Amino acid sequence: MDIINHDILIVGGGGAGLRAAIAISQMSPSLKTAVISKVYPMRSHTVAAEGGSAAVLNDDDTHDLHAYDTIKGSDYLADQDAVEVFVRDATNEVRQIERWGCPWNREEDGTIAARWFGGMSRKRTLHAADKTGFHLLHALFQTSLKFDTLKRYDEWHVCALLVDNGKVGGVLALNTRTGVFSILSAKAVILCTGGVGRMYAFTSNAGIKTADGAALTYRAGGPIKDMEFIQFHPSGLMRTGILITEASRGEGGYLFNKDGKRFLENYAPSKMELAPRDIVSRSIIEEILAGRGFKGTYGSYIHLDLRHLGEAKIMEKLPMVRELCLDFAGMDPVYDPIPIRPTMHYTMGGIHCDKDGKTPMPGLFSAGEAACVSIHGANRLGSNSLTELLVFGARAGRTAVEYVSTAKPVSADKLQSLAKDRMDFIQKRYMKAGNGKEKIGAILSELRKTMDEKVGIYRTEEPLKEAIQIIQKLKERFNKITLTQQSRVFNTELTAAMELDNMLEIAHVIAMCAQVRKESRGGHARKDYPTRNDEQFLHHSLTYQGKDGPRRETFPVTITKWQPEERKY
Ligand SMILES: Cc1cc2nc3c(=O)[nH]c(=O)nc-3n(C[C@H](O)[C@H](O)[C@H](O)COP(=O)(O)OP(=O)(O)OC[C@H]3O[C@@H](n4cnc5c(N)ncnc54)[C@H](O)[C@@H]3O)c2cc1C
Repeated sequence: MDIINHDILIVGGGGAGLRAAIAISQMSPSLKTAVISKVYPMRSHTVAAEGGSAAVLNDDDTHDLHAYDTIKGSDYLADQDAVEVFVRDATNEVRQIERWGCPWNREEDGTIAARWFGGMSRKRTLHAADKTGFHLLHALFQTSLKFDTLKRYDEWHVCALLVDNGKVGGVLALNTRTGVFSILSAKAVILCTGGVGRMYAFTSNAGIKTADGAALTYRAGGPIKDMEFIQFHPSGLMRTGILITEASRGEGGYLFNKDGKRFLENYAPSKMELAPRDIVSRSIIEEILAGRGFKGTYGSYIHLDLRHLGEAKIMEKLPMVRELCLDFAGMDPVYDPIPIRPTMHYTMGGIHCDKDGKTPMPGLFSAGEAACVSIHGANRLGSNSLTELLVFGARAGRTAVEYVSTAKPVSADKLQSLAKDRMDFIQKRYMKAGNGKEKIGAILSELRKTMDEKVGIYRTEEPLKEAIQIIQKLKERFNKITLTQQSRVFNTELTAAMELDNMLEIAHVIAMCAQVRKESRGGHARKDYPTRNDEQFLHHSLTYQGKDGPRRETFPVTITKWQPEERKY
């Protein structure tokens, strides 16, 4: 098999991956660095981010306040040393990205504008209207083009990490255009592969978010962390799950039940619509369960009302919200309230790494939504993720540069033999023709239904156990799949099979960790254990692939100066 040699390989062309690539290219232009992405970089999910990116810029704000909001938002599961680094680096990063071309909205006096976001005690969410992700990713992408030495593999799909005795030496990847597999060797691999959203049916996530990074790490023997913590965003557009940004509420939008009441006054009276997402999402579900939702063809919903903001403000600050409503719901938020319900949105957990992006496996680093540093703990505050991509993308890049200055590569012979084993596995598992009866579409639908119904916003023991059993059965059914498409060129059925395999593996971990964590904390809400239990559960979950399924260990939370307290808004 072909071997293409590199020093550092970044898997993922979204915000985290490109920020890492720029950091490496600036620090050490002579290194052979490459970005590999299963879609053209500008199609990464980062492009879909809407509301903004949080950082302290104004005089009435401090890094400690941003840190406190983030830690309280995380329900005290965030590692506080990492949060302190995050809020400090954030200020420089948002200024830097502007110099690279991100057009932050401005106030009348020319200073950078900030808007309110959930759980934040100051206006600190910088934005470019409600297309922040598009502008941010564009600024990173065009900056990355300046570096001649930075190589790209667009539309290449990473299928496995090549690991020799625990040390990462590269990846096995499929060029989807030609159907040819190659070894991409590297002394350091940085996984920036994004989240896991597509294992849920009702989600705001792009089709490419299929848990690849978590599964690659897990199969290679590395730990993944806090996977039970899944964020549901309060405002998914009915029928589609498409995100209506929290900026709608940041700019002054209201949530109403069918009795015309702003019901948040019963759940978070001091923050109202701007309470953190876990709390607002649960409040919406409570209203619906109490029969105070509106009834529609696709289930019950509540109203997000922007009408009082007026057309001019909507067009200036929330043009994409209007566009999405017109295109996907056939209604105009200037004149009518938007029908919404919570949608699966974000993965707080991910590849276990520290604040420098380092995982316990030599040669393996991670950043962005795929990683779990952890700064979000049990619940992420809106607009902290885009900033996280910048801060921890850059840090992981720099750490990798330091690492490769002394690291030895894995030998070519060893890589060939590792890749051969992996190729045999891929051929047997995915590419065999004709003998199985199972279809990937049917298995995927059942997985999504199970995750929505049994591993959703509210969780209880029995449904979680059922979910684990169903996922185990789905894994068995997966052994009998047949691909109908045998072409080498753009065989999207093959890549979909690999993605489904990844999601099944990680769904199993999520359901298992959710069942073991018998408390409620942040986005993990157990009906049968409704309170937080610091005595037994103030720890991270670390999960490894065991012989008969996931094996869970615990890992301590770092607390610096903010002692856990009751979380009230
Ligand atoms: C609709 C929406 C709106 C959002 N709005 C905001 C917001 O306003 N503010 C905020 O802070 N956060 C927001 N978020 C969250 C935030 O946008 C994401 O968490 C973040 O963009 C993830 O960036 P990333 O670089 O980690 O991954 P992504 O941007 O998801 O990129 C992942 C990359 O990995 C590549 N990849 C994955 N698997 C493979 C593989 N097997 N082989 C090769 N390549 C692979 C993909 O091709 C892609 O390039 C939003 C999220 C959504 C879904």
